[in-house]
Amino acid sequence: MKRYKAVFFDLDHTLWDYEKNSVETLTELYEEFELSKRPKPELKDFIETFDKVNTRLWANYNKGHIGREVIRDQRFKKILAVFNIRNDVMARKMSEEYIKRCPTKTHLFPHAETTLRYLQPRYDLYILTNGFNDVQDEKLRRSKLKGFFRNIITSESSGHRKPSAQIFHHSLDIARVSAHEAVMIGDNLHADIIGARNANMDHIYFNPSRSGHKESVTYEINCLSELPNIL
Ligand SMILES: [Mg+2]
Repeated sequence: MKRYKAVFFDLDHTLWDYEKNSVETLTELYEEFELSKRPKPELKDFIETFDKVNTRLWANYNKGHIGREVIRDQRFKKILAVFNIRNDVMARKMSEEYIKRCPTKTHLFPHAETTLRYLQPRYDLYILTNGFNDVQDEKLRRSKLKGFFRNIITSESSGHRKPSAQIFHHSLDIARVSAHEAVMIGDNLHADIIGARNANMDHIYFNPSRSGHKESVTYEINCLSELPNIL
């Protein structure tokens, strides 16, 4: 028997392969901004530093400590500063280029499309993301995922960020379902999984790297192709 009516998907690191798309973009920028002609950084260090800085900025954004502009303004300034490159014009241009280009990349997690094709006739599908409207919309359009979803709910459009219960309640209102009729799928144990649990929603932890944890979760999968076994 079908337990759920609505299925909510996180986007970044769950369907859309943020890591792969970001690395591809950074590799292009590394060449175009001629970082490759400098003694440092090595491409590998540039990418690793981006990850560290980006993860920290997003964690602060998710806690509500900083806004979107701070991520955009600070990201490349901080990265270049690690390699003693202090060039605000270059940092700004790199940031603009990264923001413009990364959402046009289309690498998805394995089986994303076939799984959505299986689920779409069976459930109402939604995106529930802490990303920004324009950016997430572009990713979904470019990677040809947009048509699978009835609606895209972002932290920007709802005014709240996962893991806050409000964004989950807002999403349930939009889908016109109660918490027990919905399930949340995401890669972030804190934002997606604990957030959904606090809103009394079932949840499926997407854990492709099989990271250890101590949370009790409704379901856990390592690959999207496992979803038809659950849903
Ligand atoms: Mg995610």
